[in-house]
Amino acid sequence: MTIGWCFDNTYYKLPNSFKENTKPIPVKKPELIILNKNLTKELNLDFSNLNNKEISEIFAGNSLPKGSNSIAQAYAGHQFGHFTMLGDGRAVLIGEHLSKKKDRYDIQFKGSGKTAFSRNGDGRAALGPMLREYIVSEAMHNLSIPTTRSLAVVKTGEEVIRETPLHGAILTRVALSHIRVGTFQYIAARQKKNELETLLNYVIKRHYPNIENSKNKAIDLLKTVLDKQIDLVVNWMRVGFIHGVMNTDNMSISGETIDYGPCAFMDTYDPKTVFSSIDQMGRYAYCNQPIITKWNLSRFAECLIPLIDQDQNKAIQLATEIINTFEKKYEEKWLNMMRDKLGLFGTDEKDKFLILDLLTWMHQKKIDYTNTFCHLMNFKIQKIKNYEDNIFQNWKKRWQKRLSTNNNTPEKYIKLMRSVNPLVIPRNHKVEEVLHEANQNNLKPINQLLEILNNPYTEQKNIIEYQTPSISNEKYQTFCGT
Ligand code: AMP
Ligand code: MG
Repeated sequence: MTIGWCFDNTYYKLPNSFKENTKPIPVKKPELIILNKNLTKELNLDFSNLNNKEISEIFAGNSLPKGSNSIAQAYAGHQFGHFTMLGDGRAVLIGEHLSKKKDRYDIQFKGSGKTAFSRNGDGRAALGPMLREYIVSEAMHNLSIPTTRSLAVVKTGEEVIRETPLHGAILTRVALSHIRVGTFQYIAARQKKNELETLLNYVIKRHYPNIENSKNKAIDLLKTVLDKQIDLVVNWMRVGFIHGVMNTDNMSISGETIDYGPCAFMDTYDPKTVFSSIDQMGRYAYCNQPIITKWNLSRFAECLIPLIDQDQNKAIQLATEIINTFEKKYEEKWLNMMRDKLGLFGTDEKDKFLILDLLTWMHQKKIDYTNTFCHLMNFKIQKIKNYEDNIFQNWKKRWQKRLSTNNNTPEKYIKLMRSVNPLVIPRNHKVEEVLHEANQNNLKPINQLLEILNNPYTEQKNIIEYQTPSISNEKYQTFCGT
């Protein structure tokens, strides 16, 4: 029995300026920490005939599978608003794997050693941040939010030096592709129109073949990516996800959530929530995420200008028209998403006020976002006196009145609410707890957490400690995890 790798490496065949051919740098003593069995099945891969040592050699990059052509991809990006040349500084794309259904997946090792793009970095990653990406990306997938996936984590048996020495690790990331807004920025900055055209056609063929024959492919790609990104950020807002580092190099053209550095989930509802220690100005705060999505899309539009129309003024006008549709589309989708969270069918012009009044109340009384919707679905997770408060009770009366319109029934609205309101999210203190244990070689807690996060919309027994926010008053902070 073979593993079932089926590589067909198309990015590798693009011009040399798009990437550097490079190999993962072998590591001393690879040790398998986690293998995502569900994902191996989706990819039609089978590792059951290999022992852990053999599996860890593969996911450490010590023995590359047949058919792999490993590369580091070139890209640029606006980091906190400033343009920089970047590229895979600690990642290697080992190839594109085709599942039996012919779905195409990038298989990338993150933390696999220095590349031509490493700048001053060591090309390596630490165990904690790689497991964090594994936990959160898989949680996002199970929350039905488009995301890159995590196939495996191995320890390298080598130390990485950060503020203190840490266990080195490599994450195998699976993505529809790793083409970012920053990839377009990199190629656009080279000012070679033929390269930009190559990238445009490549992306359309790979991700959006439905616009292959359109009259203005660049404009249609912009429209398509704008719609995808609106859907994505609405999903983030739905579950209280804060990406934390929405630089243009961390925005995927395929519409997947990518790059889990300082991300975290909001507990208490506060639109200004920021967890990342490096985001001093709150650029990537919860409530700014849609605004930044639009900002990033504007940078994407700028790259496409030469392909939109030969007349630059006309091209700018066309692109601006698309970008300016953002607010209206976002608002409509956000409103509908919030209606779903409240079980409201149809539309009522007062819905927006009903929704905003609930959010304002949560904000003022410092109430947990996730658990408030659980409360409204009759899952009493936390005993909170505030749910007895008058303002909330009056709000509930308005809500119930609105619920009774459009032939709604409790069965119908609870079903709708249950499909969009998670009963459990990766609570920050729980994530920290299991990472701490994993660093001490105790993998039981992380496996337990992953198991629970597999089914966030299903009622599970004895998980109250995973549903309750931390009682600590200390402000939670995340770090970039490099
Ligand atoms: P990120 O903050 O993960 O989006 O990374 C931003 C850029 O820094 C990317 O080009 C990464 O490849 C690069 N980078 C991050 N950490 C390292 C590292 N330890 N060594 C080399 N490059 C890195
Ligand atoms: Mg990145």
